[in-house]
Amino acid sequence: MDFLSCFDFKKQTSLYIHIPFCFSKCSYCAFYSKAGCSEKDFAAYTDKICSEIDAVVSKMDRPFYTAFIGGGNPFCLSAMQLERICKAVCKKGRPEEFTCEMNPESLSKEYFPLFKKYLTRLSMGIQSLDEKALSFLGRNCSLEQEIRGIEQVKKLREETGASINFDIICCLPNGHDSSDDIRKVYEMAEPDHISLYALSIEEGTALYKKGVTPMDNDTESVELKKLWKILSDYGYSHYEVSNFAKPGKESLHNTVYWDYEQYVGLGCAAASTGFKDGKTYRCENQKSIENYLKSDSFATYTVTEISDEEAEEELIMLGLRHKKGLSLERLEKIRGSKISTIPPEFKIINNYIVPTEEGLLVADAAALSVDSTLHTL
Ligand code: SF4
Repeated sequence: MDFLSCFDFKKQTSLYIHIPFCFSKCSYCAFYSKAGCSEKDFAAYTDKICSEIDAVVSKMDRPFYTAFIGGGNPFCLSAMQLERICKAVCKKGRPEEFTCEMNPESLSKEYFPLFKKYLTRLSMGIQSLDEKALSFLGRNCSLEQEIRGIEQVKKLREETGASINFDIICCLPNGHDSSDDIRKVYEMAEPDHISLYALSIEEGTALYKKGVTPMDNDTESVELKKLWKILSDYGYSHYEVSNFAKPGKESLHNTVYWDYEQYVGLGCAAASTGFKDGKTYRCENQKSIENYLKSDSFATYTVTEISDEEAEEELIMLGLRHKKGLSLERLEKIRGSKISTIPPEFKIINNYIVPTEEGLLVADAAALSVDSTLHTL
C-alpha cells in the first residue's frame, strides 16, 4: 500500500509537519531532532516537505481542517522557508486552526507576516522561568531570552490576533515549584492556552544517562492537583490531561488526535492515521534526515494496517485523556458488543465515558488499566 492510498481525502483531514532541527538538544528531549544542521539541510528539507505537501493537496478538494508545524524548532527555518511551507499548506484555503511551534529565542518581527496571512496560533516552549530549572532541563535558551520571547509574543498577538499557547514542564525531581512559572507567564502574557507536562525521563535522553529518576507517583499527583487548581483559579478549563484553555481556545488540532480522526503526518519521524474503505492505517516516517532527503517522496514512510483490536486500544487510550471523553457508541461499534461497567475514576455522561479529576490523574497509566478493565467486561 502506498502512502497516499491510506487516506480518504473526501473525509476531514488534518496535517502535521515535523521540522527535525534544533539549535542544541535539551536534556529531557526524546523527540526526533538534530542540532548542528546546515543551511543546505534546511533548504533541502523545505523543498522536500513542500513537494510532499503539494502531492497531498493535489488529492484534496478542500482545505486541511487543521495544520500544525512542530519539531524540533521550526523557527530554525528562515521566514522565507516557513512561508513556502505555509503557502503550500494553504493552497486550497486556510485551515480552521494553523499552529506553529517555536522556542522563545527564535521569534522575531520577520515572522509576524506569516501570522497575518497563514498561521492562526503560536505554541511556545517556555518550560520554566527559573534559572535553576532551565539549567536542570538543559534548555537551549536563557531566562533573559525567554522573557524577551514572551514580550515578542505579546506584540505578535496585538498585531495579528494569533492565539497563544505556552508549554510548561512540571514535577521536576529537584524541588522546583512550577506554581511560580504558571503565575509569571499568566501575569506577563495571559496566554489563551497552557500545556502543562509532568517531566518524564525517557531512555536515551541526557537526564536518563545521568541517572536522574522522576518524581514518585504520589508526590506527582499532589503536585499536579496543586498546579491544576492554580490554572482553574486563573480561568482555564482543564480539557485534557495536560491541556488547559480559556473558553473557546481549546486546540482543535490536538482534539483531532484525541478523537482519533484522520491526519497526514509529513517529515522525518512523523506519524499519520488514515481511514480508507473501512480500514485503518498508521504511517510512520524514518528517523533519518539523510535518508529522507536522498529518497523519493514518500519512499521512507512505512504503512501498517491496524487491526480492529489495535484501533480499539488507540481509541480508548486517546479518548480517556480528554474531558469530552470516549464515545460509547464508537467503542461498541468497533468492539461489536455492549459495555456495561467502567472503572470508578470515570463516569458515563451523554453516552460518553468521561474522566473525573482522578481519572485525568491516572489517564496515562489508565490507558493500560482501563483498557484491560474494558477488555474483561
Ligand atoms: S527545543 Fe524542543 S525539540 Fe529541540 S531539543 Fe529542546 S525540547 Fe527537544
